[in-house]
Formats: sequence, C-alpha cells, structure tokens
Amino acid sequence: MSTDLTAADPAGGPSATRRAILEAHDLHRAFGQTPALRGADLAVGTGEILAVMGPSGSGKSTLLHCLAGIYTPDQGEVRFDGQRIDTLSDGRRTELRRTAFGFVFQFGQLIPELTVADNIAMPLLLGKVRRKEAYQRADSWLERLGLGGLGTRRTGELSGGQAQRVAIARALAPRPKVLFADEPTGSLDSLTSETVMDLLVATARAEGTTVLLVTHDARVAACAERTVMVRDGKVSALTEFEVAH
Ligand code: ADP
Repeated sequence: MSTDLTAADPAGGPSATRRAILEAHDLHRAFGQTPALRGADLAVGTGEILAVMGPSGSGKSTLLHCLAGIYTPDQGEVRFDGQRIDTLSDGRRTELRRTAFGFVFQFGQLIPELTVADNIAMPLLLGKVRRKEAYQRADSWLERLGLGGLGTRRTGELSGGQAQRVAIARALAPRPKVLFADEPTGSLDSLTSETVMDLLVATARAEGTTVLLVTHDARVAACAERTVMVRDGKVSALTEFEVAH
C-alpha cells in the first residue's frame, strides 16, 4: 500500500504528484509522561526535498527518528516504499538504515581520529564494497563537494563547514534512497550554512535521493521544495502567513 500524494492529505502538498516513499500515519510517541508525537501524519514523495519546521520541543526530531526506524512509535504506522517498518525487528530496521537511509546530523557523526577519506569510505566498506573502489568513490565525492586534496586530513582538524560537507559525502556515497538531515547547518554561520545547504540539495537532486530536512531556520527550509510544520506533535501544511515569511 502506498499513498498517492495528490490525495487530500493535510501534509501532502497540492503540487506533489509523486508516489510516497515514506509515510507516517497517526504516529504517537511519548517519553515517560512527555508526549512528543500526538497523531502525526506525513507523506514524503519519492525524490522530494521536504523541510520539517516547528518550534523547539514540537516533535520534529522524534518524527524523523520514527520515520528512519530509529524509534518505534507507541501507536500508528511508518511505511517505507509501501512496507511497514515500525513492526520490523531491531535487526531488520538496523539493516534498512544501513542500506537505504543516510544521515546528516548537527554534530558528531564523523570519527575525528580517522581521515576524511576513511570516514567517507567506512560505510562503503561496511556495505562490502572493495577497498580500492571505496577509496576511489570517496575521492570522487571529495572533488564533487569541493574538498579535493583534503582526503588525508583528520576530520577533527576541519572547519565546521568542511566537516558537514564530509558528512554529506559520507551519507550520500552509499547511494541511500532517503537522506535524513536533522539541523545539518545548526552549528554553522549563515554564509557557510548557505553553501552547505546548496551542496546538499544539488547533490541529493543529482542522485535522485529523497531528503527529509529538520530545521528551525526558515532560510534553510527555503532550500526545500516543500515545508511542513510540526506543532504539539502533529504535522500541518504551512499557513499563508508562514509561506509569506
Ligand atoms: P524538536 O525536535 O521539535 O525540538 P523533539 O522531538 O526533540 O522536538 O522533542 C519533543 C518532546 O519530546 C520534547 O518535550 C522533548 O523534551 C521530549 N523528548 C524528546 N526526546 C526525548 C528523550 N530522549 N527523552 C525524554 N524526552 C524526550
């Protein structure tokens, strides 16, 4: 089963006509007594670049974690490519994340003691790509993201903007179907943030990768094709006021 985004789904944009690759139906998730999601619905089209905005604490990260199979919801369904993933075992969800999903977070996903090339090659090696090919692919990603010549640097020595470009290369090199980005430019100044977002969007588009981008920054969200809002654990389309601003 899969949703056609032309249907009157509150979180499906009017211009979205693509088949949904990711779907959340009536998601609920609490942490102890704190509700994080309270009936969240969302459909993300194949190849779509979707921004998820909303105030701090509204449930954006929890929604991303549920869609990526990191958290399981207390109630509701998550589908990837039409198949339920919230009911899969931990092992199958881990495998799905490794093979079909890529991640770029605000901090911390690079290993500072390893070189830039090692960091990009590592997920490829884990995916059984041969060593020589993994490092060739890492090199070509470095060129593509304007980091040529930095392959032998330790990632701990990079600037924030360089590190996030490496994180993008590392996430996209294994050719994921969906890239999950949670505040990917949250630690960068606005100029660097713009460069990093332009690269992220251009490379994801060129690869046909669907992007789910969580951000509280309207300038970052403006790079996406569509934006939805999370408020009090539910997803809604943007209001006219929010579109204008
Ligand atoms: P956002 O990403 O919009 O800032 P979150 O999804 O991180 O929102 O959080 C939603 C609510 O769930 C908040 O009240 C937050 O404090 C709570 N929450 C999120 N993650 C955890 C956690 N691991 N443990 C306890 N509470 C959490």
